[in-house]
Amino acid sequence: MEHVVPSRDEMKKKLTPEQYRVLFEHGTEPPGTGAYEHTKTPGMYRCAACGYELFSSDAKFDSGSGWPSFDRPAHAGAVATVVDSSAGMQRTEVRCPRCGGHLGHVFTDGPTETGTRYCINSCALKLDETVPPGTTE
Ligand code: FE
Repeated sequence: MEHVVPSRDEMKKKLTPEQYRVLFEHGTEPPGTGAYEHTKTPGMYRCAACGYELFSSDAKFDSGSGWPSFDRPAHAGAVATVVDSSAGMQRTEVRCPRCGGHLGHVFTDGPTETGTRYCINSCALKLDETVPPGTTE
């Protein structure tokens, strides 16, 4: 199935101002304010902008950071990473590989066997409850 990435103008119409700010202006939602921080509902977390499959609910854990956290992507290549030197820190930014939307950051202090903690803005995600955990479309 071929997916067409919406234009920035289409994105702006489709997304809330907060979603657009986070995804396409490298924003961060205030910690503890996102819809999915404590969500346990099974499903697939898709990119809020383009619908790409990013994280399965079975990779989600409570990190206490104030943002939804995952220990691995939905599949190899489900997320893209780039070095982020903004805000006086050296971090690894996580982006949607399809539309390039900014999702959050990834750290190497994860509590599970992967050792990885993807710290993701809730508003950059859309939970699709029709996709069973651990599967992809
Ligand atoms: Fe996307």
